Amino acid sequence: MKTTDRMASVEPVRLGPENTFKFKCHPGIECFTQCCRDINIILTPYDIIRMKNRLGLPSEEFLAIYTEPQLLEKTGLPVVTLKFLEEQGKDAQSKACPFIRENGCLIYDDRPTTCRYYPLGVASLSHKEDLADDEFYFFVHEPHCLGFKEDKLWTVREWRKDQGVDIHDQINAEWIDFLVRKRSFPPNMQLTEKTKQMFFMVSYNLDKFRDFVFNSTFLQRYEVDETTLEKIKADEIALLKFGLKWLKWLLFKEGDFKMKPDVDTIKPRR
Ligand code: SF4
Ligand code: SF4
Repeated sequence: MKTTDRMASVEPVRLGPENTFKFKCHPGIECFTQCCRDINIILTPYDIIRMKNRLGLPSEEFLAIYTEPQLLEKTGLPVVTLKFLEEQGKDAQSKACPFIRENGCLIYDDRPTTCRYYPLGVASLSHKEDLADDEFYFFVHEPHCLGFKEDKLWTVREWRKDQGVDIHDQINAEWIDFLVRKRSFPPNMQLTEKTKQMFFMVSYNLDKFRDFVFNSTFLQRYEVDETTLEKIKADEIALLKFGLKWLKWLLFKEGDFKMKPDVDTIKPRR
């Protein structure tokens, strides 16, 4: 999910889970923090949950301060990237992550999925350990990164585990599925602005989505049992999963989401 203006430096080496590479990143290395500049990091829903909670911010405030909106290439779906800032006394063209400090990442334990994978990229949106035939990992081998000169040996599988991407990929899986599905839509099938707004709200602005569920006509329209209501009120991950299930029903007419029989039928909107 990391895109970079330096993609020309990506090595065309296809890696699977058992492929090995030598790499070590540590504060003593000469290039320390160089990779946290001049890149484009697309944030996933779980990235936002971790980061906003780390900073103690409501989702709307986090989005306003730390992200920039983008339309995802080939899908037209709205996503956000981490907003990088110009650094004082540096080249005006150079921008750095707002969380980088001399001694490293300020939010290291809650850093985004892309930062965890680095220096690996995933040539697929599915982000799972056992990739399909046309999916593979690759090195984002940027010239300034000296970690490849170190002597620590990893398999891709070990690296993913060590960096804690598994839980991120697991929680983001349904969301990634949306992106992949939308890419396979015929080009003439467009989503309405309203549907894109719903996708954005569920994906990134969970506080607003919670408010939408509990304080609009949502619960008059849809059947949601008490246990689920209690769960999504208290648990953001459950709320995200619930939202994605609703979106899936809305967009693809899939799943067991139910409208109440006594309300006017509202056509699923694309
Ligand atoms: S979130 Fe942390 S690891 Fe990721 S780019 Fe920013 S400073 Fe670097
Ligand atoms: S450039 Fe590579 S080795 Fe240097 S800090 Fe970043 S990931 Fe670590």
